Amino acid sequence: CGIVGYVGGQAALDVVVEGLRRLEYRGYDSAGVAIVADGGVQVAKKAGKIANLDKLLSADPMPRTGTGIGHTRWATHGAPNDANAHPHRSANGRVALVHNGIIENYVALRTELEAAGIAMTSETDTEVVAHLVGQQVEKGLGLTEALRAVCNRLEGAFTLVAVDSATPDIVAAARRNSPLVVGIGEGENFVASDVAAFIEHTRQAVELGQDQVVEIRPDGVSVVTFDGNEAEVRPYHVDWDLSA
Ligand code: GLU
Repeated sequence: CGIVGYVGGQAALDVVVEGLRRLEYRGYDSAGVAIVADGGVQVAKKAGKIANLDKLLSADPMPRTGTGIGHTRWATHGAPNDANAHPHRSANGRVALVHNGIIENYVALRTELEAAGIAMTSETDTEVVAHLVGQQVEKGLGLTEALRAVCNRLEGAFTLVAVDSATPDIVAAARRNSPLVVGIGEGENFVASDVAAFIEHTRQAVELGQDQVVEIRPDGVSVVTFDGNEAEVRPYHVDWDLSA
């Protein structure tokens, strides 16, 4: 339902959780975050309101700085419980991923993964994507190329945002039939399902095109199509009146 991703020098956990709060008006049933720090990726997720996630984070703290992604879920596949909340992790523990939308061919992909010995830990259509991206980075692809390769196997509607503990300064995101906006900052960049998530930080935004993948780093942003062709990055100014 709501998605936020952040790379840069601010406390990523705070930027991501605050961004999720700005998307609360859309409704949701669970919330979660992942932070890449200290060579690993940590996930915290909880059914219910963001207040429940806050409680979990104060009881069981995780690094606040690093690279972060977050999600508020509106369940389509699997009950709204902790296990089904996003982010989902790859079996090898490297990748954490959030998803808006529906992966129509997830049953076939799950069968393939289970045949390869990967056990599912949720009932979602999303989890297969985390495992598939995990397999691709394990084979040696960079996170963004891995996500692109996997997107070419997916059917349905999706905004996907992923991190890999091996490349801590990168967030990769992709979309088809579901929105994604990039926020362009100075020494920091954002992705979100809606500009509301980052408008406090920057008003320079780029709408990701259909069937495109974006890589954000603290110092830049690049976009490729699912076919692997470089795409133009054309920022516009968001001139909403925040007080309205
Ligand atoms: N289909 C996914 C799920 O049920 C994503 C739902 C959403 O868009 O929040 O977990």
